[in-house]
Amino acid sequence: MTKQHIQDYLKARGLRKTAFRIELLKLFLESKHSLSHQDIRRKITSTQDKVTIYRGLTTFLEKGLIHKVLDANQVFRYALTIEENPEDAPKHNHAHFLCKECHNTFCLYEVKLPEYKDVDGFQVINSKLTLEGYCPDCI
Ligand SMILES: [Zn+2]
Ligand SMILES: [Zn+2]
Repeated sequence: MTKQHIQDYLKARGLRKTAFRIELLKLFLESKHSLSHQDIRRKITSTQDKVTIYRGLTTFLEKGLIHKVLDANQVFRYALTIEENPEDAPKHNHAHFLCKECHNTFCLYEVKLPEYKDVDGFQVINSKLTLEGYCPDCI
């Protein structure tokens, strides 16, 4: 994804493009696995301010640019929710993969979740599918 594409994404989501937001989005685009708060703080260079980073993540979550993924320790990590076309509404409907060796979590964008409507009087608002095993780097 080009720099222009990143800027289009921020614009389509109604976000002002700041050096920090561009860097944050780029960081997600370049990472093969989801990122923890700590990963992000270590890698970001445009700010070291915890609050700025926290707010940036919250804004990206609200705008649907990223989503949360639970790791093996039940700690949240963050990953991109990117549609080909910046104008399309982001949908999070894929499975996640947890590597038992490097403990990274990965988005399996091709593995779509089945869509459940109401089941026997239960109203479904969220579903998760987590696969575990060894990632290509750890096999
Ligand atoms: Zn691994
Ligand atoms: Zn994901």
